Amino acid sequence: MRIKAIKKSPPSPSEVGQAKLKIKNCGLFFAFILHFTFYIFNCFFFGCATLPKEPPKPKVYLEVPSNEYKPIGKELAVTFIDVGQGDSIFIKTPNGKTILIDAGGTPYWKQSDYDPGEEVVVPFLENQKIKKLDFVIATHADGDHIGGMPAVLRKFPIGSLYENGIVSDQPEYEEMHRVIDDKKIVTSVLKQDASFYIDSSVKFEIFSPPSNFYFEGENNNAIAIRLIYGDVSFLFTADIEYESEDNILKTYGDKVQSNILKIGHHGSATSTSENFLKAVNPEVAVISVGAKNNFGHPDSGVIAKLQDADINIYRTDEDGNLTIRTDGKKFIIETEKNP
Ligand SMILES: [Zn+2]
Repeated sequence: MRIKAIKKSPPSPSEVGQAKLKIKNCGLFFAFILHFTFYIFNCFFFGCATLPKEPPKPKVYLEVPSNEYKPIGKELAVTFIDVGQGDSIFIKTPNGKTILIDAGGTPYWKQSDYDPGEEVVVPFLENQKIKKLDFVIATHADGDHIGGMPAVLRKFPIGSLYENGIVSDQPEYEEMHRVIDDKKIVTSVLKQDASFYIDSSVKFEIFSPPSNFYFEGENNNAIAIRLIYGDVSFLFTADIEYESEDNILKTYGDKVQSNILKIGHHGSATSTSENFLKAVNPEVAVISVGAKNNFGHPDSGVIAKLQDADINIYRTDEDGNLTIRTDGKKFIIETEKNP
C-alpha cells in the first residue's frame, strides 16, 4: 500500500495577498452591513437624514447704489415695463439697438377693451424717442404677452420678429399675425441652442423652447433668453414652469447662472423650482405682475424661496417700471415708484 505523503507547501506571496484581500473585503462588507443597519435604525426612529447639500456657489454682487455707479463706457438698459398682469421688456443696447420682449395685453376671455400695448407700451417707447424696433420677440401665444403686440407692430417699423414656432388658435395670436402679414414683417423661430450677438458686445443665448420637441401647453414652450453684457447677465424666463426649467438645467447646468432673473410666470407656484433658483443664483429677482390679480401671483412660497436665498426682489406692481442700467461691470436699478 502506498501512502501518498501530502506535503503542504508554504503559501506563495500571491496567495497570502489574496487571503488578506478576502479578510479585508469581509471586513468592509461587515462594516457596510453595520453602517446600513444603523442608518435604517436611525431612519426608523428619527426620520431619514437628507444627503448633505452642496454649499451654495458664492453670489457675485454687482448691484451698487446709484450714487456709486460711474459707468465706464457705453451702457445697456433693460426696462421691465409695468403692463399690469403680463410681461413686456424693452432693451436698448450700448450701440442703440432696440429689442422688445412681449408687449403685455389683456387675455381675450377677460372681455375688456383695455389694451396695455396701446395704453402703456407704445407711450413708453414714444417717451424714449424710439423710432424703430430692431428685434421683437413674442415669447408665446398667451394674451398677457402678445395681446398688446398688434398696437406696437402697427406703430413702429420692425426689423424682425421672433416666435417659438407654435401655431396657435388663440385670438391674440391670430390678430398679431394679421398685422405681421399686413406689414410684411420678417418672422423667424427661436429655439434652444441658438446664440447670437445682437450688438457687438451683447449676446443672446436661447434656452427654451427645446430644439427637438414641444411641451404640452403654451407656458413651457415660451422663449427663454439669457442676455450677457460683459460681467452682467440677465435671464428672461417668460412663463416657463418646472418642466421647462428642468429641461434647461439638464441641458445647460451651471451655464444658466445670471445676475438678474426675471421670475417665471409672474411668480406662479408652478415656476422657480429650488434647483433652478440655485443654479441661476441671481442677485436680483424681477417679478412682472399685476396688482391684486386674480391668480394669486406672486405665490408666497416663491417669495419665501427668494428671501431665503438672499435675493433682492423687485416687482412691477409695487415699483412700477423698473430700469436696470449697466456698463457691463456693475448695475443699478431705477424704480418708477419707491425710489
Ligand atoms: Zn404670462
